[in-house]
Amino acid sequence: MEERCGSAPTPPSAREDHAICARALLQQCRECGTKGHQGSGFCPNCLAADFDWVPAAGTGTIYSRIVMHQVYWPSFKNDVPCNVAWIQLDGGPHLTANIVDAKKAEIEIGRRVEVIFDAVTPDVTILRFRLT
Ligand SMILES: [Zn+2]
Repeated sequence: MEERCGSAPTPPSAREDHAICARALLQQCRECGTKGHQGSGFCPNCLAADFDWVPAAGTGTIYSRIVMHQVYWPSFKNDVPCNVAWIQLDGGPHLTANIVDAKKAEIEIGRRVEVIFDAVTPDVTILRFRLT
């Protein structure tokens, strides 16, 4: 069965323009330096509430992965089965995302990945990854 969310987005020109401007940022605690991506009001390490937004490397390593078959929301019924990977970002936290342009057997723990920006609407961009 085809893994729809494992396919690269087809970028019309508007998406390409948006992708050029997109960048991955992480929230970094000013007290202890812990980085996160949740946009939380408190640091998960020291509970400080003082943050900066810093650029993420945009690369990482596959820490774990699954193939999701369950349809949790009707709007995603045409997207399963799809891969879901837990990415250890270089210099940052873990991030859950899809791997695009890869067959299931290629999505192995330890493989290197890089971020891509999937502009699913003019206002919403999803971070996905591809193998390097
Ligand atoms: Zn902290």
